[in-house]
Amino acid sequence: MAKQEYDVLVIGTGAGGGASIWRLCEQLAGSGKRIGVVERGDLFLPTNVSNIPTMNGANFRLYAPPEMKMIGNRLPEYAGAKVVYALGGRTLFWGAVTPRMPLSELVKWPVPIEEMDLYYKIAEQVMNVTTSYTQDSSITEVLLNRLWAHGYPEADKLPIAADLAQTSYGKLHSNVLFSSITFLAKALSRRPFDLAVNTPAVEVVTDKGKVAGVKVMTLDKGPFMIRSKHVIVSASALQTPRILLNSGIPGRSIGHYLTNHSYLVATASVSTKGFDDPVGALGIIIPQTEGRPYQLQLQGPEQYFNYHFDHKPIKTEWGISFFYASGLVESRYENYVYIEPGNRDEYGLPEIQVKFAYSSKDEAVVQEMYAAMQRAAERMQVDIATLDGTPAICFFTPGTDYHESGTCRMGVDPDTSATNLYGEIHSVSGLFIADNSVLPTIGAANPTLSTVALAIRTADHIVRRLG
Ligand SMILES: Cc1cc2nc3c(=O)[nH]c(=O)nc-3n(C[C@H](O)[C@H](O)[C@H](O)COP(=O)(O)OP(=O)(O)OC[C@H]3O[C@@H](n4cnc5c(N)ncnc54)[C@H](O)[C@@H]3O)c2cc1C
Repeated sequence: MAKQEYDVLVIGTGAGGGASIWRLCEQLAGSGKRIGVVERGDLFLPTNVSNIPTMNGANFRLYAPPEMKMIGNRLPEYAGAKVVYALGGRTLFWGAVTPRMPLSELVKWPVPIEEMDLYYKIAEQVMNVTTSYTQDSSITEVLLNRLWAHGYPEADKLPIAADLAQTSYGKLHSNVLFSSITFLAKALSRRPFDLAVNTPAVEVVTDKGKVAGVKVMTLDKGPFMIRSKHVIVSASALQTPRILLNSGIPGRSIGHYLTNHSYLVATASVSTKGFDDPVGALGIIIPQTEGRPYQLQLQGPEQYFNYHFDHKPIKTEWGISFFYASGLVESRYENYVYIEPGNRDEYGLPEIQVKFAYSSKDEAVVQEMYAAMQRAAERMQVDIATLDGTPAICFFTPGTDYHESGTCRMGVDPDTSATNLYGEIHSVSGLFIADNSVLPTIGAANPTLSTVALAIRTADHIVRRLG
């Protein structure tokens, strides 16, 4: 790769990187343009961990930790953070819950709503987003009906990026829960691209305000330069600013406006006496609305949301594995990622540090969520367990939601945003960002579908530029 000059070089293969690679390969299928990809991690798994037939909650906890590295122990204000260095990034482990951003958030974005609608459609199609995952499940239907009957008309089945089609006529559909590996496979089926794994990018190289390439390291710590006319950095909302700041890319917003979700999780159960058996999978979302600055989500029962080979007992009392609330966190300059030049990793990349605190508005949302979870539970006839007489609802450490975003947010004003509305860094022509970093706001919704939609849009913009 050091001998080529690429038309586009992508850093990272998670949700944002994978989506850009797929779209570039699809749109440039017959063109002879050169596409390169560098990935810090190795091939860990060729699919989402939850597609492994023997995977269940207990195995997930055993299996995931070696690749999901806690970095929070050195980030006191962001102690829940984890990083995944692997081909496919965090999408190897994600839950594939894929709501759109609510309109009340999208109106704040610099991209026209109609255009977002189009790119959401493309993203939903390529990721197989469906609400049919819980089709005919009595536990989902009964609880949804209770919500609809008691003041939650917007409650809905959980949208999941899951391929539910049958394998037939030679077309494989065995990879149910989506991961970015599917993007890479779809890309490769359209045209070749060069891929280097175990190759951390450490610096973006620029020349007279234009991107010139990327300095990367080999496993034996040798540096080399890969030249490219366009570079897309998709290393995640914590790692992308790390690379940009290490490269001296100018922009006062780079690393700033770090947002995530405040995160409450309840221990709860429901009586399914009288429900049709088997009760099926539970997947419900109560989305953010104008008056509700949070989202509620229920999954279960117990470990049975994902399909697998465990016998499911007949029971009339089921635990809800995941009853949680994600709250809107203000996008503030004061929350940011910065680098510590005196503290470097094995490749010479400065470590990051995070400055993060919830605002008083964010804390008020948490209080609201706490009451809202109890209210919704009562309407669904779900029992929240108690501990010493208090509802067992835990407030998780910042970073535990894995939804960090906004650290290179897009916008029109270079003073308050890092990129323009196509994800291109304001001060460097040809340098693009396509991962959670560019999201202008994330409201209370899971962010990844929006990242994918924007990454596809950025790829289309680059394709137009390439002519
Ligand atoms: C357990 C779990 C469950 C989740 N569930 C959901 C969910 O249901 N719905 C949802 O919307 N979101 C969910 N998320 C969050 C979701 O995974 C992220 O929003 C999404 O993956 C972010 O995509 P990204 O491209 O920004 O980053 P990532 O997916 O983290 O990808 C970053 C990529 O960059 C690579 N990289 C990093 N540094 C370098 C470097 N220096 N050089 C080269 N490569 C580099 C990494 O190896 C990785 O491949 C979940 C996350 C976890 C961990």
